[in-house]
Amino acid sequence: MTDQRPAPPSYEPLPEDWDSALFVVAHPDDIEYGAAAAVARWTGQGKRVVYCMVTSGEAGIDGISPDECRAVREAEEIASAAVVGVDEVVFLRLPDGVLEYGVELRRAIAQVVREHRPDVAMTINFRETFGGTNLNQADHIAVGRALLDAVRDAGNRWIFPEQLVDGLEPWGGVRAVWAGSSPQSTHAVDVTDTFDAGVTSLREHKAYIDGLGWEGWDPEEFLDGILRSGGQGLGVTHATAFEVFPLGWG
Ligand SMILES: [Zn+2]
Repeated sequence: MTDQRPAPPSYEPLPEDWDSALFVVAHPDDIEYGAAAAVARWTGQGKRVVYCMVTSGEAGIDGISPDECRAVREAEEIASAAVVGVDEVVFLRLPDGVLEYGVELRRAIAQVVREHRPDVAMTINFRETFGGTNLNQADHIAVGRALLDAVRDAGNRWIFPEQLVDGLEPWGGVRAVWAGSSPQSTHAVDVTDTFDAGVTSLREHKAYIDGLGWEGWDPEEFLDGILRSGGQGLGVTHATAFEVFPLGWG
């Protein structure tokens, strides 16, 4: 049966002619399962990347109550971001596990887009599965869909006009939304040189990883598996794959 497997996909290199990105995800640790190594590459090129956590992942550790967990996970994400050259992490503190796609989520994300004015907006996979029958998580799907809308809402002064005070202006400059580790990825970025930073960044989620109780689970081995398969599609050792949603007509 093994020789019946399809050939690995072939990826286009992601464009790198941009200066700033906003990476919006549901939970602390979402970026670290593959994308952080790409962030390390980009910050190393002098690009600015800001993280936005829609929740604080406070419902993520079975043995720790949400009020206690929130602070632990926010601190872990700030440390994790610092490893890959990101010095600003925004926490929206919406409720973990029960996010709903809709106007309120779009409004919250549009505000951050207007404040940071990125060239590219990023998130993680928000398709129904991670490929095969590995179901995605509801918060990831809600955030990705809302981000696609919010980057367009942010450019329209008549949508969420109450945000346009104290000098805040519409921002219609987001050129694309990129979703990391999508099963429909078409592009990838070479992270061979920043793989180690990606591993260190994931290891910062110590309380969370301990809380999962996965005996013998190794962050390096895990990321090597994901990023090596991305690398095959780009002809390099390690790469992070992204699905690209271009905005506008171009
Ligand atoms: Zn998550």
